[in-house]
Amino acid sequence: MNRTELKPFSECRVLIVDDEPMSRMLLESILMPVFQCDTAQSGKDAILYCADKLPDLVLLDMNMPDTDGLDVCRALKANSATADIPVIFVTSTLDIESENACWEVGASDFVMKPVNASTLTHRIKTHVLNKLRTEFLETMTYHDQLTGQYNRMYLTKEIPLLIKQVARDNGSVGAIMIDIDFFKLFNDTYGHLEGDQCLSRVAQLVSSVMKRPKDAVIRFGGEEFLVILPYIDSAGAKLLAQELVEVVQKAEIPHAHGIGNKVSISVGYAVWQANKVAQAGLEALIEEADVKLFEAKEQGRNQVMG
Ligand code: GH3
Ligand code: MG
Ligand code: MG
Repeated sequence: MNRTELKPFSECRVLIVDDEPMSRMLLESILMPVFQCDTAQSGKDAILYCADKLPDLVLLDMNMPDTDGLDVCRALKANSATADIPVIFVTSTLDIESENACWEVGASDFVMKPVNASTLTHRIKTHVLNKLRTEFLETMTYHDQLTGQYNRMYLTKEIPLLIKQVARDNGSVGAIMIDIDFFKLFNDTYGHLEGDQCLSRVAQLVSSVMKRPKDAVIRFGGEEFLVILPYIDSAGAKLLAQELVEVVQKAEIPHAHGIGNKVSISVGYAVWQANKVAQAGLEALIEEADVKLFEAKEQGRNQVMG
């Protein structure tokens, strides 16, 4: 992976947490030329800031009057949203016990006061880079490069966990299968690159219809998308499926050999109790949505079957 594919340090946000104004000013003056810096003067402020702004790194004073650094770090690591933010402790005294305590609460590193400006900057760069690289790899593993939507790996690794969760809650799960109509003719007419752009556009449109954070749009095959909808009933899935067909129609993407000279999609859906999906397998639910999609194609395309 190339450094240029990651955001530059100048866009990375470092939160400086220290109760002493002089300390905050000093650290800020060292780091400001390299990173975006923000400051917090108490442990409580730091925790609130992190939950809201998700900085790329936290520089944390160990000894503060209200919530000390160790408590702040513990709280950040206990919250899944902030757990991956690297924390570097800044301390004036460091005996073996405090040193061990830092590691135990999940610190990435520590530096001693008075700080050496160059060492501090380099340590922060190292930890921020590690974080950005890990995030980048996670994104690559679970996303399709062309459309930015989830890929098959996400479907096989993560969706089963989601379905187990829905099954525990006694909910149901929907699968919507989407296929672009006459897409081979689109490629033949406008070329493969234009075809790629059309695919990205349709992916965006599909994604724009899904409103809940746990709804997952997956690029299932070449010009096929699958949407997995936790906690939905049949009427809800039908509405979304119809909305998908309409949204693509309204986008009016020209297609000389398409229905009404526009790009259209055909859609099939199925909704099952999550328990049944967990027993019969996700493939069985997808298979039913796929059979319905086939019916939609047979009935003349640009429509929903379920
Ligand atoms: P139908 O209405 O029955 O779905 O017809 P269709 O032409 O869409 O279906 P078919 O399965 O015959 O063709 C799918 C086409 O999708 C063929 C393939 O070239 C194209 N395709 C698949 N993946 C990509 C891709 O990543 N980019 C581009 N540009 N085209 C792709
Ligand atoms: Mg097609
Ligand atoms: Mg197809």
